[in-house]
Amino acid sequence: MKTQVLVIGGGVGGLTVALKLARCGIDVCVIEMLKGNAAMYKGELLQPKSIQILQDLNLKKQVEAAGHKINEIQVIEKREKNTVYETIGCSSMNYNILNSPFDYALMIPHEKLKALLLEEAKKHASFTYIQPSRFKAFRNEKAVVDLEEKEVEIEADVFVAAEGRKSKTREAMNIKVKEHKYDHHFLTVSFPRPEDLKEGKMISTPHTFLGLFPLPNNMVRTVYLIPQGAYKGMKEKGISVFYEAYSELYPELADYVKHIKSWREIQLMIPVHFNADQYVKDNVVIMGDAAHSVHPMAGEGMNLAIQDGDVLGELLCWIIREHADLSCLKWYEKVRKPRVHHVLHLSHMSALAYSSPFRYFPNVRKKAIRQMTLDEKLHTKQMLNASGLGFWKESIFDRMVQIGLFPIRSNPSLSYNGYMFTEETDYPWEEGGRAR
Ligand SMILES: Cc1cc2nc3c(=O)[nH]c(=O)nc-3n(C[C@H](O)[C@H](O)[C@H](O)COP(=O)(O)OP(=O)(O)OC[C@H]3O[C@@H](n4cnc5c(N)ncnc54)[C@H](O)[C@@H]3O)c2cc1C
Repeated sequence: MKTQVLVIGGGVGGLTVALKLARCGIDVCVIEMLKGNAAMYKGELLQPKSIQILQDLNLKKQVEAAGHKINEIQVIEKREKNTVYETIGCSSMNYNILNSPFDYALMIPHEKLKALLLEEAKKHASFTYIQPSRFKAFRNEKAVVDLEEKEVEIEADVFVAAEGRKSKTREAMNIKVKEHKYDHHFLTVSFPRPEDLKEGKMISTPHTFLGLFPLPNNMVRTVYLIPQGAYKGMKEKGISVFYEAYSELYPELADYVKHIKSWREIQLMIPVHFNADQYVKDNVVIMGDAAHSVHPMAGEGMNLAIQDGDVLGELLCWIIREHADLSCLKWYEKVRKPRVHHVLHLSHMSALAYSSPFRYFPNVRKKAIRQMTLDEKLHTKQMLNASGLGFWKESIFDRMVQIGLFPIRSNPSLSYNGYMFTEETDYPWEEGGRAR
């Protein structure tokens, strides 16, 4: 079997790059090892840059119809007093502060997003999707895959590895990653929500954290922080422990949480942080979770995969159209690696606020978040950096404002000039940007 580009893994990242290539008329084949939909929960929060990319792929209307718009995420700090949790601080991180048409995020069921990408890709004659088919190894510069209980070799000009965190291709390329693990894990599950729970909420106490992110159809995705190793003990105590944990932090959920009948419905999520030192070797490229993994606190993993797919897809279209040398694949790493590095750092810092020893200083966390949302410049930088639309580094002065050593600025200069990503910076391999 032969194709121009073989994409290993039909997750959001693999499907984004494949759709970009199919739109350019390039022969692209995606192999996906699962028989049907993934049973595991995965990312559902689309950041503004990903929405922009989906608009470019003609999918914005469908994605918005299947999603729930998020304008703000309320950050609520609570403290226990006489066995009841009282609110001691509340701030709002608001996407609307962004001076962009993409000044909102979107919650969409992960499998629905994949279905929309796949449906769109299938409209193109040069797109092939093979499921189930599992990549096993490289042999004589061909991919060896299991297909209908037979071993088949697939020849390709370029191999894109988008198989997620446990990438076999990354191992075959001998690219090393140094995994950072955290002292906490998460429980995650979705269930029906109160109708008035329309925006995101992050509720923190000195010991835990509950994230609530509304989905369409009156559902809510929830994430609850537990100490590493606590999962087994909680399960043994029965499902009532889960009900109590949620209800004491957000009493409005007391009845809703009972839709979850057993621990089997609840997924344990173990956060890991790594960034491969190399994304490209000869004609093999890694992307998405295969190249980097991010702590889920900032809701970025799926977005990084989509954004990798966008840049890599655009570059491959240009390389193939222009008959450029495959050494140009380095452009993908050049554009994406520093951006991924910044997002990983942002997520890691948010995660540390909930890790020891910092979680024992909740007042510092409360103050830092409050200062950040009150100071327009800091707030803008935070939302811009999380959005993926640009990058504006925080200065030492900003940090001083954040910890309260310097006052909140009135009327700060907010020119985004040079801080927003543009076609020229997203696709810099050809003068004028986009290679079309
Ligand atoms: C519980 C949970 C919550 C999350 N929440 C968020 C969030 O709110 N926001 C966010 O942005 N991100 C979130 N993430 C992260 C996000 O889901 C991932 O970063 C994203 O799915 C990565 O996309 P990907 O395409 O790189 O990899 P994946 O989604 O992992 O897709 C890889 C695909 O490759 C297939 N595959 C693997 N090996 C092979 C093989 N050998 N042959 C063929 N196919 C193979 C797999 O079956 C899979 O379909 C979350 C993750 C989890 C687990």
